[in-house]
This record gives sequence, C-alpha cells and structure tokens, in this order.
Amino acid sequence: MNTPMPSIPAMKTIGVLGGMSTASTLQYYELLCRLTTERLGGLHSPRLLIRSVDFGLVAHLQAQGAWDALGDMLAERAEKLERGGADMIVLATNTMHKVVPRMMRDVSVSLIHIADATAARILAGGFSHPGLIGTRFTMEDRFYLDRLRGEGLQPVVPGADDRTAVHDIIYEELCRHEVTEESRAAFVAIAGRLKRMGADCLILGCTEVGLLLDADNSPLPVFDTTRIHCEAALDAALAG
Ligand code: GLU
Repeated sequence: MNTPMPSIPAMKTIGVLGGMSTASTLQYYELLCRLTTERLGGLHSPRLLIRSVDFGLVAHLQAQGAWDALGDMLAERAEKLERGGADMIVLATNTMHKVVPRMMRDVSVSLIHIADATAARILAGGFSHPGLIGTRFTMEDRFYLDRLRGEGLQPVVPGADDRTAVHDIIYEELCRHEVTEESRAAFVAIAGRLKRMGADCLILGCTEVGLLLDADNSPLPVFDTTRIHCEAALDAALAG
C-alpha cells in the first residue's frame, strides 16, 4: 500500500561548530532533535551539519593564549560548514565566542550568537543582574561581559576562588564527561554566593554546566545557554 508523502516543512540547515567539548555537543544534537520533533511533530528531524574539532588541541591553544590561531582554525571550519550547505552557524561553546570576529571574517551566513540569545531571554524574563558561571575566559575577559552589558544587563561574576573552582571543574570533569555530586554541591554553593552578591538570575554560561545545575537545584532562576542557543537556532531555521 502506498502511504502518502508527509508534508515536509521548510527548514534551513543549521551548521553546528562543535566538539568544544563533545560533552556539550552531544546535548546540542539531542536537544535540536527533540525540539524539532516537539515543534513539527511526527518523525520530523532537523537539517544539521556538525563539524566537530579536537578539543585537546583547542584547550591547549586556549591555555597558551593562542586566540588568533584558534580564530583561524574555527574560520576554516566555519567556511567548510558554509560550503557544505549550512544556512547559519551555531558555535556550540560560550568561550570560543571570544574569536567570533576572526572566525566569521569570510563567512557570509549568519551566526546565532549565544550571548545575544541568552541576553534576550533574560530581558524578556524581567531580570537585570545575571550571575555568570563559565570558564575563566568567559567570566573574566571582556568579550562576553561587554556583550551582556551592551544589552543593558549588569552581570555578577563569582569571586576569584570560585572562578578557579568553576573553571577547573569544567575542564577537569565536565568536558571529560565526569559528573560528581561533590562538584554539583560546589556549583550550588557558588550560585548561592552569587545570589548574596546581588544576582537575580543565573546564566549557565558554559555549555556543559547544565550537567550540574538546573532549575531544580539552583537558588536562582536559570538561563541555560545550551538550551537557549538550540531554541534560537531552531527559531531561525524555521523562520519563513
Ligand atoms: N563549552 C564550554 C563553554 O561553553 C567550555 C569549553 C570551551 O572552552 O569551549 O564555554
């Protein structure tokens, strides 16, 4: 028996630049698939290209401060995604948004910026002082904080010891697919201190942090950059 051809919704191709780390890119793939099924129903699934880099090399170059080399490396991968048919680029890491200007120099398709998408959600929720948990680069360098401030937000950053603890847990555990209750408790305590410092909500500003913190255990309303980024990408992919 011939079954009728399903109606295929118009959908653009999302180009995910991932592997930073693989623990978060797994979540991007799962979330993009789940969200597409939720929105379109049936057996629909997203049009995706995933270009995954070797995070061992990326983390090494980050530690060396070789940001221009990283920008060139990601530029080459982003250009390949575009040539392969991606209609937009999703850089599946907060930290590497540091090199976005260099990475996007010769790319014509648009970038779904993780900090812009997150800031829009925070403002829509009526919050203004987001606590920020992420890598040392995200919490301390200007590229991310200034982007949030440019949207009118006043980010609250953990103290020096907490920044070190968060950074180390990200690289030594979460990026290696290790989730421990001890680190979960440490993150919950840091979120509590951010609340006492005046934060009115919390940005999970590292795409692996959702492995430890969520709306159930956070003392502050949570904005998970991984989920927000996937939703923004799908909005763009399904926009007419
Ligand atoms: N995925 C992380 C982030 O969102 C950290 C890994 C990286 O340095 O890219 O910042």
